Amino acid sequence: MIPIIVLIVTSVALALSFTVVFIPWLVTGFFSPLVFIMVFTIGNSILLYGVFERRSPLFGKIIWKSANNNAAVSLTFDDGPHEPYTSQILDILARYNVKATFFTIGENAAQYPETVKRIVKEGHEIGNHTYTHDVLPLKLPRYICDQIRRTSDLIEYITGVRPVLFRAPHGWRNPWMNKIVKEEGCIPVAWTLGVWDTDRPGADKIITRTLKGVENGCILLLHDGRGVESKADSSQLVEALPIIIHRITEMGYIFLTLSKLIEEAPKRCQTRR
Ligand SMILES: [Zn+2]
Repeated sequence: MIPIIVLIVTSVALALSFTVVFIPWLVTGFFSPLVFIMVFTIGNSILLYGVFERRSPLFGKIIWKSANNNAAVSLTFDDGPHEPYTSQILDILARYNVKATFFTIGENAAQYPETVKRIVKEGHEIGNHTYTHDVLPLKLPRYICDQIRRTSDLIEYITGVRPVLFRAPHGWRNPWMNKIVKEEGCIPVAWTLGVWDTDRPGADKIITRTLKGVENGCILLLHDGRGVESKADSSQLVEALPIIIHRITEMGYIFLTLSKLIEEAPKRCQTRR
């Protein structure tokens, strides 16, 4: 999918660059291949940055870290629910009394409605992660709107709570996504630290990568599933999670759901020196 997105974005950049160079050429008769190549290269790089860089403000504001510089961290789990892993993760969170945020996929939520209910019942937050986890940069507004609305409708039907956070699959965006997300009542969010746990690097690596990158206001991206794959295996994360929670707590951080992390600076948080 990445080569196709790159190809189409590059074609758009080429067309825009041609327009930018073509108009002065018509007016002044001046044409420089070098200027054309420069405009194209810069334009193409900016567009690709907007699509693939999760923190890019090019296509609208995106929250990827808490603005409150407090010793608080948010655990976020994408691509679930997916059993038995989501329930195992919920057991661990309950054991440590940690609240987290689950960016669920609509299709998976339809398969495991009881798990979705349990997430909310135990005080965690549910975010919207589209209905089918399709990559969205090349999708038209109506399709993106349908993906978000169907998922929010389903989560609200199951739990009575409508999601207020949206995270795009892979964090990839396009120029019209932010507007649609907001119209559907959600805030677009990304993440601070991804540890690539879906690559199954081993529990030790998941722990090391997490502890190395955690910081004040960190939004940590983890996965209780992998897209809509039925055979996704999150056992390494389940093995790593108790140690991650224990060590991050030892480092002086508290855990908050993502909405709480980004909304306000809790009084009990102390700035970590
Ligand atoms: Zn995802």
